[in-house]
Amino acid sequence: MRDLRISITDRCNFRCLYCLPETEEAANFYRSRFDAVRNPKPFSLEPIRYEWKPKERLLSFEEIERVVRVAVSLGVDKIRITGGEPLLRKAVPELISRVASIGGVRDLAMTTNGFLFAKQAQALRDAGLKRVSFSMDSLDPANFKKMTGRDGQAEVLAAIDQARSLGFSPVKVNAVVIRGLNDHELESLVEFARSRELSLRFIEFMPLDSGHAWQRDLVVSGREILQRLQARFKLVPIDPSGNPAETARRHAFADGRGEVGIIAPVTEPFCGHCNRLRLTADGKIRTCLFSLHEHDLMPLLRGGADDAALAARLVSIVQGKEAGHRIGQVDFVQPARTMSCIGG
Ligand code: SAM
Ligand code: SF4
Repeated sequence: MRDLRISITDRCNFRCLYCLPETEEAANFYRSRFDAVRNPKPFSLEPIRYEWKPKERLLSFEEIERVVRVAVSLGVDKIRITGGEPLLRKAVPELISRVASIGGVRDLAMTTNGFLFAKQAQALRDAGLKRVSFSMDSLDPANFKKMTGRDGQAEVLAAIDQARSLGFSPVKVNAVVIRGLNDHELESLVEFARSRELSLRFIEFMPLDSGHAWQRDLVVSGREILQRLQARFKLVPIDPSGNPAETARRHAFADGRGEVGIIAPVTEPFCGHCNRLRLTADGKIRTCLFSLHEHDLMPLLRGGADDAALAARLVSIVQGKEAGHRIGQVDFVQPARTMSCIGG
């Protein structure tokens, strides 16, 4: 386990249709696609009355720093700060600088929707953030709004340009692909990424949305995405042996201008070589995105346990990591936590 992903808040300023589908547009989209014969299970698109975690139930920056320090002593060397929307939390550069100063943290990255990035970009860079991934699923402002519930594309585009100019490298863009919603934009997203030297990742839609409205038919498989791209671009597969825990199947463009990755956890699970652990904003370790059980570190962190006890707990949690997720199996159960709480 080398990769620890830390969600620092469960709150978000977006309402992405695949994550927190609480907008009228999201409800209309799912209703129009719902196939009652193939999906007999009803779903709910009632607005979710979230009980955002009160501040005192969130890990403080000191507590996060401590968990990272102990995890690093056990071999973790890659940290990703995520959310909810991580930049909704106050003073994130302070957290970045605490984590960056831990010897052994080789890679420090953030995943953000970008809306609040511009104001803090320089401070984040100065604090030691190395890489940033932006979520942007559409280049069409109207479709962007439909997908995120927010009229914010200009801000996200500006954030991407700013990240590049500040020297974050690589700057990544993640796009979740949903059939009938943004799958017509695959090629234009690629052209956009190539024109700005961005590293683009297409991600299969996973059953982690708050409405439990995910349907298999809405997933555009990694294979289909690749075929679409191959029809338009000359792609050369990148040998994954240098990084066995890589989740994306990466392809370079034959003309040397950039690369694209496809992350296909639904149709081509990579559980066998997963090296990720996740820490939620309220102090629970999850050994898989789809875990049905969480391991609460709060009693140790706030109960006076020493670092050795915390390390022993992390080791025993990791030893119980599940062999793989069960999407597609008859016994699959969607976890109660949504992607917005887990991190991604
Ligand atoms: N708010 C930040 C953002 O959107 O980048 C960070 C948290 S978000 C949960 C992390 C990543 O999870 C994003 O790239 C988002 O696209 C992805 N994600 C959310 N729900 C998803 C789903 N149901 N299937 C696949 N990816 C999802
Ligand atoms: Fe969208 Fe990220 Fe917010 Fe989820 S957490 S609604 S993916 S911006």
